[in-house]
Amino acid sequence: MSNLRASEENDPFVNMVTARAEVDLRLSDFHPRSMLAAPEHEVLKPKFPVIDYHNHLDAQEPGEMLRVMDECGIERIVNITMHTGEMALEMIQKFHSVAAKRFATYGWMDWSDVQAPGFFERSVERLERLVEHGACGLKIWKDGSLLRIDDERLDPIYEKAAELGVPIMYHIADPDAFFLPIDAENERYEELAAHPEWSYNGSHYGKAELLEQRDRVISRHPKTTFVGAHVAEHPEDLAYVTKLLEKNANLHVDIGARCAELGRQPYTAREFFLKFPDRILFGTDLIPEVNMYRLHYRFLETRDEYFEYPSHASRQGRWNIYGLFLPDEVLRKVYRENAVRLLAKV
Ligand SMILES: [Zn+2]
Repeated sequence: MSNLRASEENDPFVNMVTARAEVDLRLSDFHPRSMLAAPEHEVLKPKFPVIDYHNHLDAQEPGEMLRVMDECGIERIVNITMHTGEMALEMIQKFHSVAAKRFATYGWMDWSDVQAPGFFERSVERLERLVEHGACGLKIWKDGSLLRIDDERLDPIYEKAAELGVPIMYHIADPDAFFLPIDAENERYEELAAHPEWSYNGSHYGKAELLEQRDRVISRHPKTTFVGAHVAEHPEDLAYVTKLLEKNANLHVDIGARCAELGRQPYTAREFFLKFPDRILFGTDLIPEVNMYRLHYRFLETRDEYFEYPSHASRQGRWNIYGLFLPDEVLRKVYRENAVRLLAKV
């Protein structure tokens, strides 16, 4: 050592409070159990019916989904199909033929021929065709990395969406930590270690630039309804999302796969829900399972403290969350009413 003054060196109290150990335990083997004695409430059914506005059901069987939905109070799931072309239409059919009122389907932007002539006109026609077949929106994912998000040639797609009355959902960036090196300072180290392909570290555009490109498009098309997936991809900075929502009345956000982010800042997150009860959509972006949904209800409805957030297997970070105990009028809107409004055309 030591930074200690001579008078401190043999002091038992100073020695105690300055002691440290070099530990050698594999991170993957470290599973501390919380000793906190706090009330726990399992919420079996939501207080009001729920629409899951952000999920991916392509691999699921509609009958099995309905069983899960009935068991945990889900009125409807929006399947964001990851198929394009004829396969996308088949996905619409697969679910809507079983229970048209219990499912809805978002189309997926098809970038496969982005470099072929006529791509932009074709994209508008594809959107029209999807909506004719019952799609309730179009998701634009980051896989079109050959273009800037605010490329003006994409504008006709947004105009067409406005004309058809369906929203555009954006997912163009990712958590802040995905833009940093995968190292000992990365708060999502284990998640990125499991999914190194999720890292944007060293990518062409930084996160701030990607968000700016997206935000310009949202402002440029006030008649188009946009859904910013994953709390507009910036739940780490709810002040940013607050400004964005204040500036753009045409924007909604979903909370898909972001309970971890929201639940670790419960004071700020609760204020955010109370400020924008009409603009936030319940979504999960996780495999539909009974316990996954129940954890969401616990997060939104109770004031339980320090419990595990719903997540994919690799987790998102080594922290726990706190319940938001949202008031009934907020819950009703977030759980269902906002989604009903966006689904009005289907
Ligand atoms: Zn998703």
